[in-house]
Order: sequence, then C-alpha cells, then structure tokens
Amino acid sequence: MQRTPAEHSPGGPRQLLRRLRDVMAGQASAQQRLDQVVGTIAADLHADVCSIYVRRAGDLLELFSTFGLNPTAVHRTRLRLGEGLVGNIAAHARPLSLADAQSHPDFAYRPETGEEVFHSLLGVPILRGGRVIGVLVIQHKNQRLYNEEESEALETISMVLAELVASGDLVTAEERAPSEGIGLLPVRLEGVRLNLGIAMGLAVLHQPNITIRQVVAEDPEVELKRLEHSVASMHSALDSMLASTAITESGEERDVLETYRMIAGDSGWLDRIEDAIRTGLTAEAAVQQTRESTRARMNQVTDPYLRERLEDFEALAVRLLMHLTGDMDGMANVVLPDNVVLIARSMGPAELLDYDTRKLRALVLEEGSPTSHVAVVARALDIPVLGLVKDALHRVEPLDPVIVDADSGALYIRPGEDIQQTFAENMRVRAERRQSYIAMRDKPAETRDGHRISLNINAGLEIDAAHLHDAGADGIGLYRTEIPFMVRVEYPGVEAQTELYARIFERVDGKPVVFRTLDVGGDKLLPYFDNVSDENPAMGWRAIRIALDRPAMLRQQMRALMRAAAGRPLSVMLPMVAEVAEFDKARKIIDMELARERSRGGKLPETLRVGAMVEVPALLWQLDNLLKRVDFLSVGSNDLIQFLFATDRANPRIAERYDVLSPAALRMFKFLATACARAKVPLSLCGEMAGRPLEAMALIGLGYRALSMSPLAVGPIKTMVRSLQAAPLTAYIDSLLDLPDASLRDKLRAFARDHGVIL
Ligand code: PEP
Ligand code: MG
Repeated sequence: MQRTPAEHSPGGPRQLLRRLRDVMAGQASAQQRLDQVVGTIAADLHADVCSIYVRRAGDLLELFSTFGLNPTAVHRTRLRLGEGLVGNIAAHARPLSLADAQSHPDFAYRPETGEEVFHSLLGVPILRGGRVIGVLVIQHKNQRLYNEEESEALETISMVLAELVASGDLVTAEERAPSEGIGLLPVRLEGVRLNLGIAMGLAVLHQPNITIRQVVAEDPEVELKRLEHSVASMHSALDSMLASTAITESGEERDVLETYRMIAGDSGWLDRIEDAIRTGLTAEAAVQQTRESTRARMNQVTDPYLRERLEDFEALAVRLLMHLTGDMDGMANVVLPDNVVLIARSMGPAELLDYDTRKLRALVLEEGSPTSHVAVVARALDIPVLGLVKDALHRVEPLDPVIVDADSGALYIRPGEDIQQTFAENMRVRAERRQSYIAMRDKPAETRDGHRISLNINAGLEIDAAHLHDAGADGIGLYRTEIPFMVRVEYPGVEAQTELYARIFERVDGKPVVFRTLDVGGDKLLPYFDNVSDENPAMGWRAIRIALDRPAMLRQQMRALMRAAAGRPLSVMLPMVAEVAEFDKARKIIDMELARERSRGGKLPETLRVGAMVEVPALLWQLDNLLKRVDFLSVGSNDLIQFLFATDRANPRIAERYDVLSPAALRMFKFLATACARAKVPLSLCGEMAGRPLEAMALIGLGYRALSMSPLAVGPIKTMVRSLQAAPLTAYIDSLLDLPDASLRDKLRAFARDHGVIL
C-alpha cells in the first residue's frame, strides 16, 4: 500500500475551485455542468473516478454523474440512506476514507457500475442547511491512503457543489425536502416540555436565510481581513447587547450571554474558518462550511452538554454571517404576526432576544434540553417551550396556525376547528384562574377553622425568586443551589457564589429563604465536574456524601452564603442525610466556617439555622437524636418516596405504581409530623406532592403546616387551603390509616367533594 502525497495540479486547490466556479457559471444545463465538474475534479486530483450522488425523495441516493464508473449506471444506481459506503457517508454526515473499500462491511457491490477494479475511496457529504443533500466520491485503482489535506479539499469542493445541487435544477426542492404529501393536513407532533404552558399563534420559522453570493475567493488575504473585521464587529455587537438588553440586567440570563460571548472568542472555531479560507473559499463560504459540519455533527451527538455547545456555535455562525454579508436584519425582514410561535432547529439566547419579545407566544425547538440556554431565557420571558420536536421545521409552513401544549408535550399544526376551540376554552379558563389567583395574592393561606399554613416556593434560578411576590408566597422553602451550578460552564468560586446568593437575598426582600447546600451527583451532573458514573446514581455518591468527602466545596459554599447574608438571618439545609453522624460532621464544618468568618472580622449572619432534609428512610429511626440537633426539618418527598417504595423516581414505567396517598406513606408522614410537633421542631415538606391540591390537603390533615412548591402551584393550593376545615379532615384521615388499601386517593377526593374543598 502506498501513501501518496496530495496530488494537485499546479496551483493547488484554489486553482481547482476557480475552474469549478467557471464551469458552474457556464451556460450549459445543470446535468452538463455536473458532468464537467466530475471530470475537472478527477483530472485535478488524478483520481480514476469522481462521482456525485444526489439525495432524492424517499431517502435515496442516486448516482447523478460520474467520471470513471460505467456511464450507463448514471441515474440507475440508487442506494438507500445507510446502504453501501455512499449511504454510510450520508447517514453519518461525515467523510469516509478507505484504502481498501471492498473489505469494509458496508461495501455494497453494484455490478452496473464496474467499480470492482477501484480499491481506495474517499467520500464526503454534500451538506446544505444541516442536511445531507448528496455525496461526492473519488476512487483510485490502487490501494492508497488519503491524507487529511485531500479530505479537506474534497469538503471544500463539496461546499461549492452544494450550491449547484441545491439550485433546484437537478432535483426540485420539494423532492429534496419531502413534505411527504402531508400538504395542508393537520399534524400532531410530540416533544418534551422545557417550560410549562399552552399557547396559540402563527408559526414563524427561524431559518435566517442568508444568501452567499460568492463562494470562491479572489484573494484569500482580503477574505481573512474581512473575517477579522466581522469578528470584531460581532464582538462589539454582543457586548452592547450584554450592556443594554433589559433581560440581562441580572442573573442567569446574563451568565448565558457571557458564556456565549466567551465562545465567540474560541480560537479553534476561528482557526477552522481561517483554514477553509486558505483553501480558497470566501469568508462567508468558509463560515458556512464550518457551520454545515457543526450542524451535521449536532445530528450525531447525544450528549446534552456537547449538543448545547454545538448549538451555541451554530447560533454564532449565523451571527457572523450576518456581519459578513451585511444582512443584519437576519429574520427582521420577515413581517411578524402579533402572536408568534417560533419554530427553530435550535437557537442561542441572543437569537431569541432579537425577536420582538412582546409578540412571542411560544417556542418550539427540534433540539433543546431543559438546561439549554435558550430554554433558560424563554423561561424568564414566561413563554411555553417544547423541545425535541422532530422534523418541526419540515412539517410546519410559515404562518401556519399552531398550538403548543407544552404541559402534555404536543405541537398541533394546522389544528381543526374543534381542537382550536377546546384549547381556546382551556386557555380562557386558565387566564381566569390566573386572575383569581392574582386577586388572592395578598390573602392569607388560612383554613376555614383558623390554621395558618405557610406556603413557600421552590426556586433554583434567580428568576424564580421574582415569582415569590407574584405568587403571594411566604418565602422560599427550598432554594436548590445546584441549579445555577448546572447552567454554568465552569465552577463558580466563592466570589461568584456570594454575588449570586446576595442577589437572591435582595430579590426576596426580607422574606425567609432556605438554601439547600449543593445536591449534585445523581442525575444532576455538573458539566465541568469529573462525574462518576454510578450504576444507581440516585443512591450513589451525591449530595451530603460528596460534601463530607470534599469538604472544601461545602466550606466555600457556606462562606459565600454567610457573606451574602451580610447580617441577615441565614437558613441552610443539608440534602440526603442518612444518619445523625453525617449531620454532626456537616454541622462541624459549617461551624468551622462560621468561626473563620468571625476571626476574619466578617459580618456574620444575624442568625444561622441549620436543618436537614428527610429523604432517606433510615433517618426516621434516628428522630430522637436528630431532633435534638436540627433547627428544622424539611421532607424531600420525591426522594423519600422513591427510597421508601424502592421506585426510581425518574422511571416513567413505575412512576405511577405506588401512591403517596397510600396508608404506608401517610403513616410515615404522620409519624414524622407527630415527632416534630412533640419536639417543637419546625417541619416543612418541599417535594412535588406539596404542589398538588389533594396531596397537600392530606398533608394538612396529618399536621403539616408548611409546604414548599413550584410558584405556579401556590394559587391553586391557597384556594384549597381557604376552602378547607382541617379538624374534620384530621379525624377522617386517622380513621383511614389502618386500611389495607393500596391507595386512599378516592376516599380523600370524596371527602373533598362532600366538604366543599376546592381542588
Ligand atoms: C425531594 O427529593 O423531594 C426534593 C425536594 O429534592 P430534589 O427534588 O431536588 O431531589
Ligand atoms: Mg431530593
């Protein structure tokens, strides 16, 4: 086998690009131009074969032109996506280089081509809009290894070819992106809810349509200068966006844009663009080429963190193209309806903010994850978001009427009258309810027989703290400190944490807030952390277990919390405590940190309360000792129930199997409430069940007087509380606890109905 150096005709790849440009600009038919193209490439690269396959409807790749293979195979040889080596290149959207193609397991022999005499093969996908629209292949008779430069040269050529293939002269655009004859029929697509809510509107497709007029450069030096200039102007535009956008004044939204700004300076990304310019492309074509390969990679990557980074690069490439082409309007030249449902493959947070946010009703993404930056920002704008909606951009036509039901994870495209009416009615009822909750905001959560129930919210993002006041809640019962750690790209040090917690203190404006120390591990992975892959992560190295093994993290967090409290009262609670000894150890670390701050002359919190979460059943048998030590307890029922019933809380197959309203669970909750009342230790419950009216009613019946829930649940729970008489409920529940039933749900619901409790 021989390794041959890159074999270009004199002038290198740039000369070839020029020749190709001249061929493509010619007057001949598209097919004739394609035939000239393959001949030119083969001659220039001294290849025995050069062939172009074009993707047709039905995911077929058809041989459209060849130099070197049997000409009668043209338009006859067809391969399915994934079939043969050409199908492999298309399916994976990546180049394939083989010295001995026929020994590859995917090799599919097509006798009509006569290709059995050619041994080596180098193929690259022809990409457009993140889709593979064809495959370009060269072959040699001898077994030879292709080098990286040859592969890069072929990719650059494929970029130029993409223009011809996408022009519609070879295969119509409809055939390339088949709408599968679904024309104007209603369609329902499934997705994953990234932010709750329901919205109706007209579809606006986020597909910035930037036309690249010139692909082949006259002078690479000029193009490099143009790139440099545009990168600089993109940076300053991002800076002014950071400085001026109202939403970025605080918190995560700002972090997100800053991350974005940091990525814009990524030298690897810029190097790739510069390399592509040096092979002969114009600056915009080079950005486009880099973008196409990023988009193609996005289709392959399943790791959410990596995908998110690729999404950021995609968004930046679009921005850079806007600066290069001067088409700064991007999407702004599309006339927006008043109720926009934005449909995008993926987008960065800055792209979302480019739209008139007053008109945005919902966001639908083909990609996206709950922690993706755009989801964080959309949440701040309070619009429903649906992610992972496959093929949304293909199935939706611009300005189609659409309904986004993020609550149940569905997108209705061109819905029929009946569905539109049902949703319109549903939205009207929701709006009315929201109004009634707002009207109730300042009324106390007090039962009809005078029991005051403390209703608090669970928060994680800074923006959640803003909901505290809208919801009319008493305070933050659970601040999940790990959430801001999860949306960052690097570990926040003491200073960054102090700023973050200080902003929470400011936002709650004197209302109480309970900070839970880091609950990482399990399913809450930090992108910058060396994550261990436990077989049972929920029962693995997480929460307080990490804190005790890595005390520096807990100490830094406590230092930041104490400094942020700056003389105000501070409450912290420890997650996943399994034994009293763990609590003691953590308390000791906390006290050490307090002493350290005192000796430094720092301003100490007015009071420091340290509590534990009850999430591990073992703790229930240590209550006598535990209650002597803690300042308060909070039940993490999500975890406590999963460990009580041995049911993985993240597994939808068993999520509904055991009921929190079973005698076993209710007895346990009662046991705990009674012990805390006896010891006069404040008790709260902050799992999901606190936000469900029937479950919350049962908890009040068992003696719970403090609950913490998602902000949206406060209104419905307050309504329930104000319609309830606690004393008869307590008597009733007590009479049920001995029953052998699997669930007491129906009986409790009947009680509510008979006693006028509003659920
Ligand atoms: C719980 O386990 O109930 C809880 C509130 O903690 P998290 O949901 O964050 O695990
Ligand atoms: Mg928990």
